[in-house]
Amino acid sequence: MKTIAQNLLELRQSIFHAARGCGRDPKTIKLLAASKSQTLESIQEAYNAGQRVFGENYAQELREKASQLPRDIEWHMIGNVQRKNFKHLLGHCQWLDTLDSLELAETIERRSLEPINTLVQINIADETSKSGIAPEQLLPFLQSIRDFNKIKVLGMMCLPPFFEDPEQSRPYFQQMRTLLQSANAAKNFPHQLTELSMGMSHDFHVAIQEGATIIRVGSALFPPRSPL
Ligand SMILES: *Cc1c(COP(=O)(O)O)cnc(C)c1O
Repeated sequence: MKTIAQNLLELRQSIFHAARGCGRDPKTIKLLAASKSQTLESIQEAYNAGQRVFGENYAQELREKASQLPRDIEWHMIGNVQRKNFKHLLGHCQWLDTLDSLELAETIERRSLEPINTLVQINIADETSKSGIAPEQLLPFLQSIRDFNKIKVLGMMCLPPFFEDPEQSRPYFQQMRTLLQSANAAKNFPHQLTELSMGMSHDFHVAIQEGATIIRVGSALFPPRSPL
């Protein structure tokens, strides 16, 4: 089996080629290591190989890991957060990539001590099993949180349906890019939204072609995880 360092090297090469292949600067794409249920040792191994951005799916797991690992890791919350669990993230997590309701936004506004980088999760395929703001609700949603001081909205993330064939993810990634453009064109927000978090191990090269600025990779980097 390959080491995490080898996987990371190959991933960086793939990102480089995918970006160059569509005329993008590879440095504009952030690799987020999705480390749910990975051990501290595995995360440390990725860190030692140069990886600094990690994402977790559960607030308590993120807090546990963040408190035991190097302080210069940039932690993202990539799982859905129940309002009562937001407190676990305080002081540990620099990014919330899954803002999916006004209620959660209000909790953050009330409890956060400092602004948190935030992505709005979009339910891009209108799946009942997934949370997120409906695409047509994005503009009103942004409007409703525009005066929140603790929420620094930088863009959007999505988790489209899984397809074996990554080409089938492409239309959803394209819709995300269009949505970002229309949000910026509407100018009902104080600043431009620049981030699109989309694409995982099997389809990140397609996501990069469609404008992803953050890709979230787990299985292509880490050893197989034990079932949750
Ligand atoms: C686990 C996870 C990923 C990574 O998925 P892989 O297919 O293992 O690369 C990305 N995003 C979210 C929200 C995840 O939970």
